[in-house]
Amino acid sequence: MKYPELPLKLSPASNEARDVVGFKYAGGNVGQRSKLGGDPDWIQGEDVPGCTSGNVMTFYGQLDSAGDSMCLADCGIIYVFICLGCYETRSVFQSN
Ligand SMILES: [Zn+2]
Repeated sequence: MKYPELPLKLSPASNEARDVVGFKYAGGNVGQRSKLGGDPDWIQGEDVPGCTSGNVMTFYGQLDSAGDSMCLADCGIIYVFICLGCYETRSVFQSN
């Protein structure tokens, strides 16, 4: 099972939120890699988890670091997975 890719765009809800978006030095698309569906954009290589029943889990989405003051390690991404049998969820974190 693979969901179609839906890129997520940040829409800051306040001036404080607007201030944490963006990187001074990180290049490329860092900060704009959040999405639902598609394939994980692995930073360190594939690492799909299994649920407690041993089923391979389905990729649901990924959450990118947002900016210099809201950065996970070295511009890391949290990958979210769900088992479509038992609905257990797991996340995997990778960083540069
Ligand atoms: Zn399961």
